Amino acid sequence: MPRSTGKIALPTMTPGTQRSIVYYRYGKAGARPKAYLQAAIHANELPGAMALHYLMPMLEAAERGGRMRGEVIVVPTVNPIGLSQLAGNNHLGRYDFLGRENFNRNWLDLSEAVAERAGRRLGRDAQRNVAMVRRAALAALADMNPVNELQTLRVEVMKRSIDADIVLDLHCDQEAALHLFISRADWPGPAQALAADIGSEATLYNDPFPEALTFSGVNGALWARLAARFPEVAIPQACLSATIEYRGQHDVNHRLGASDAANLYRHLVRRGIVAGRAGALPKLRAEATPIAGMDVGYAPKTGVVVYDVPRGARVRKGAVVCEIIDPLDPRGPKARTPVRSQTDGVLFSRRLDGRLAWPGAVLFRIAGAKPLEHRKGMSGLDD
Ligand SMILES: [Zn+2]
Repeated sequence: MPRSTGKIALPTMTPGTQRSIVYYRYGKAGARPKAYLQAAIHANELPGAMALHYLMPMLEAAERGGRMRGEVIVVPTVNPIGLSQLAGNNHLGRYDFLGRENFNRNWLDLSEAVAERAGRRLGRDAQRNVAMVRRAALAALADMNPVNELQTLRVEVMKRSIDADIVLDLHCDQEAALHLFISRADWPGPAQALAADIGSEATLYNDPFPEALTFSGVNGALWARLAARFPEVAIPQACLSATIEYRGQHDVNHRLGASDAANLYRHLVRRGIVAGRAGALPKLRAEATPIAGMDVGYAPKTGVVVYDVPRGARVRKGAVVCEIIDPLDPRGPKARTPVRSQTDGVLFSRRLDGRLAWPGAVLFRIAGAKPLEHRKGMSGLDD
């Protein structure tokens, strides 16, 4: 068994119902380094849960064999609210029904609260500062009084993640190659080793950190925000926080689950959290590229989408990535509107063939190295 099992009870929102979040701790509470892994905050993205399904027995074997050096917290499915969103024989899970917000937005930026609590005591000793910032962040969370279910979920989950050395938020796309969202502050450094270990085919960095308050964003950006606010003191980037996109929603199977878990486990060994030999770092599959270089293809009109390029393919600027077919237009090929790449790069994400598009719908994303004028100031993730 894991060292301990935890259950976070969320407040009852309607009579006769209550939800909770289950998590597992491997290694001793407080041991370092600490890793925090969660899956399915977008509750209909389950490849990460499959990877954790395979990872948990591996961690349990490490625990039994006395090989846990640090602490690992695993939250196999972090969002029971989204998991319950069954509607018309479909599972939804991306947006909260109550407030209609995306479950991976509006996480808590604690930098202001930490600055107030600990700002004056920060000094030149980086390790001391790290401990102080973590204590202040946990104290700020302890002082919060969330009212509803989703607010409570955010506060309680961040109590488990905010003091970690590594935070991995496991997501997926509709149809995608394995890709990774990180912060510039972590590249090359620890993010490069993570990208190599998990086999990332496209790694995109926010520079210096994501403005959108995503879960992985707020955990990592705490350090970068404080470092920017207190340039005279030593504040290292003490947490590698990343969003791993485990391909597409349908990429849930034993083969991928087992290999993704093995790769995560090897990374935990490499970081010294589990004892063992990680071996040589696998060859990096792609250099990191800036979010500002990410081409996002938007639908110019409605119609049926058909792709000309498979996920993971390299494309050239000007290449037709997909076509939108107007089913009401009888002119055959003239009823097709091509949508082209605006950069050279890797087509790491797209929708499924045959989906309906509407004006402004995101059709694909391409990781390019050159910042694009039309993408400047855009955030990394679109809803
Ligand atoms: Zn997601």
